[in-house]
Amino acid sequence: MIIDLRSDTVTRPTQGMMQAIINAEVGDDVYKEDPTANKLEQRLAEMFGMDAALFFPTGSMANQAAIKMHTQPGEQLIADKWAHVYNYEGGGVSFNSGVSCKLLDGNRGMITAAQVEENINPPDFYHSPLTSLVCLENTTNKGGGACYDFSEIEKIRKVCDKHGLGFHLDGARIWNALVAQKQNPKDYGKIFDTISVCLSKGMGTPMGSVLIGKKEIMKKAMRVRKVLGGGMRQIGFMAAAGIYALDNHLERLEEDHKKALEISEMLLKQPYIKKVEPTETNIVIFYLTETVSEEKFMNDLLQKNIKISGMGQGKLRIVTHLDYTDAMHEKFLKTLNNYK
Ligand SMILES: *Cc1c(COP(=O)(O)O)cnc(C)c1O
Repeated sequence: MIIDLRSDTVTRPTQGMMQAIINAEVGDDVYKEDPTANKLEQRLAEMFGMDAALFFPTGSMANQAAIKMHTQPGEQLIADKWAHVYNYEGGGVSFNSGVSCKLLDGNRGMITAAQVEENINPPDFYHSPLTSLVCLENTTNKGGGACYDFSEIEKIRKVCDKHGLGFHLDGARIWNALVAQKQNPKDYGKIFDTISVCLSKGMGTPMGSVLIGKKEIMKKAMRVRKVLGGGMRQIGFMAAAGIYALDNHLERLEEDHKKALEISEMLLKQPYIKKVEPTETNIVIFYLTETVSEEKFMNDLLQKNIKISGMGQGKLRIVTHLDYTDAMHEKFLKTLNNYK
């Protein structure tokens, strides 16, 4: 038994999902003739109360396409210093869009309306790049699955309106926020211009993200996806997995959150732990005391077939998911409690 807690992307499709994939009705999506892809896109657009949606192979491509559609070369976007779009998409913001990032010093990956407003370059001051987009992340990845206070998002929207800025949500783990905070996706649809959602993290599909947005912006989405190399053919097989996940894997995220909290509470009791970040969803971030190195701790766990992620400087990460069973959970909690 290997207990893999490095990420919620390590899951394999369930039997039920495999059946849905095998039985999918498919067509050529480059002609927009894949009925299952069309169905998934329509379902997500309706779920968020937005005009249109488009399937992408990855979350990075969905975010990068959104940034491309919102900006012109030379402009600047505003994001938290830990933002995935800046740190983990291979420099795509500059590579694809010729755009720079103004990175703000947020709290666990979250920024405030006041910070955003302070960091907008004056549009008449032609020496500095023109600010044109704000990108938020919910839940935050590097911030440890933290959830925004929705009223802060509403305030940031007002700042965007006042200054004519686009507003994009990197919602790779929006599902976790929706479940943890008992929110309605339509509230997000009302606020953002574009939202990317991921189907292969907590939702457990083999691949796929969907970009959801307002008609005016999404008109360009097919072209931008094609340019990025993301025009695909019979993707209904993957879309069927997405539909299956929406039906079967959304509400169960609560179980992942419960397990993460129990891990967090167990860690807090241990003498070798310096600090555990607040655990709101399925990510636990913690720090070891000086008595044990990150490398040794990870190696000792690996000896017991347990994999977790190191984030450097004594910072470690655990992510719970669909394939992390009750039996694994029991063994892992025991291992943490007996660790010396
Ligand atoms: C995983 C993730 C993405 C997308 O990643 P891909 O691996 O390209 O699908 C985007 N944003 C956040 C916050 C993520 O955690």
